[in-house]
Amino acid sequence: MKDNLPKVAIVGRPNVGKSSLVNRICKNNEAIVHKEPMITRDRKYYLTDWNGREFYLLDTGGIDLRSLEKLNVLVFEQTKKAINESDIIIFLVDLREPVSVLDEEIVNILRKIDKKIIFAGNKWDDARGNYYLEDYLKFGFGYPIKISAVHGINTGDLLDELVSNFEVNSKVVEDKTSEEPFGITILGKPNVGKSTLFNTMINEERAIVNEIEGTTRDSLDSIVKINEKDYRFIDTAGIRDKKIKTEDLEYYSSIRTFKAIESSDIALLLIDSTEDVTKQDLKIVEMVIEKGVSLCVVFNKIDLASADRMAELVEIFNERLKFASYIPYLKVSALTKKGIKNIIKTIDTLIDERKKVVADSKLTNFFKKLQLEGGVYSKGKQFKVKFIRQLKTSPPFFLVFSNFDVGRKTSIRRYIENNIRKEFGFIGTPMYFKFKH
Ligand code: GDP
Ligand code: GDP
Repeated sequence: MKDNLPKVAIVGRPNVGKSSLVNRICKNNEAIVHKEPMITRDRKYYLTDWNGREFYLLDTGGIDLRSLEKLNVLVFEQTKKAINESDIIIFLVDLREPVSVLDEEIVNILRKIDKKIIFAGNKWDDARGNYYLEDYLKFGFGYPIKISAVHGINTGDLLDELVSNFEVNSKVVEDKTSEEPFGITILGKPNVGKSTLFNTMINEERAIVNEIEGTTRDSLDSIVKINEKDYRFIDTAGIRDKKIKTEDLEYYSSIRTFKAIESSDIALLLIDSTEDVTKQDLKIVEMVIEKGVSLCVVFNKIDLASADRMAELVEIFNERLKFASYIPYLKVSALTKKGIKNIIKTIDTLIDERKKVVADSKLTNFFKKLQLEGGVYSKGKQFKVKFIRQLKTSPPFFLVFSNFDVGRKTSIRRYIENNIRKEFGFIGTPMYFKFKH
């Protein structure tokens, strides 16, 4: 987890719509949210954002309504826990219901804490409905922001209010400084040559290695200094310690791999050139992309593969990774050191591409020009960009204002992404968009 990001919890009695609101907020932000978390057990927060301001949203686990006798206690406990773990609280009530005892108990807890509380009234589906709005004034929090989680009414206002309370340190554009080296993880099935590659790289580049505690308890990271530049290799314990090795199938779903990806900026996925690109490899590509991590595929053990075999492999790669043609690949031999120098060069390229910032005017003018040359149409209507702004780097995130609702129209999304890549690069990094019209 990134420590400097605000943590937000939604509290309220059962059935007011907390999980619906979590879903709504996360749905608005396709950037970093994962609809199907790989490891549910371990997941507590959703990393999401509003207008480029990132935050963690506490995954509000539902309370089992079957254990009704203990409901008060459960609500009480859950609320306290959420409050303890978060920086800002959204207090949610159901405007279609009068104030209940449980609401009041939650308010009693909230009164005792010294954290920012945003008061919201849910299920405000229709302005003409009957609501208990005034009833809730007695809490002393003023009028709630009227929202409908299910219909998405006013949830934008709620989020505006939320992010306006964030400290200035949750920067809009995160730009890593040299003090904070980029995190690199080496991935791949057992025996593809991860540890050999890591060791070869260090020796070959005359690197100075400094081992530091990793992001999880049993992991070890290495700060590697090459040509005065620091790189942080994530979980080198997992690479070096043969005892830790998990079996083939387990590897890709292991918490270890998952965590390594989560805390990285750049991933190198090793593939044994004498073996095929497997479903598992593709799964890991998806995981990496989903996490917004830059990727380079490294075909290792080229000393064991013929030229024909390599050509075939590249063809398979191009075919299988058609959906992410921005991912570069390298051919190396960790054992004979062939191509090793290119790895550091490529890592540097991926870092630069991740950090890249393109000015609003450049982006906007570029698309205006494309529009004049034809652009793209949807249902007979020309798609027009009014304005594009890059809100974030690492990974790049763009806000696109256009003349109509882009919704899920993949043709338009692809048009934008492909053209940005064609003109501005962004090699190896996934990119994200938010559309407004
Ligand atoms: P939680 O227990 O607080 O997490 O509440 P849920 O999110 O599970 O929602 C409880 C019920 O209220 C579900 O049946 C939702 O579909 C419904 N609900 C949530 N938000 C709204 C809303 O904005 N309008 C309406 N009409 N129903 C809602
Ligand atoms: P890991 O499990 O992914 O860390 O893989 P290792 O680094 O332990 O390598 C597994 C085996 O592959 C070892 O016997 C290495 O010597 C061998 N190996 C690694 N890289 C290469 C390479 O480029 N060429 C050849 N021929 N063997 C390699």
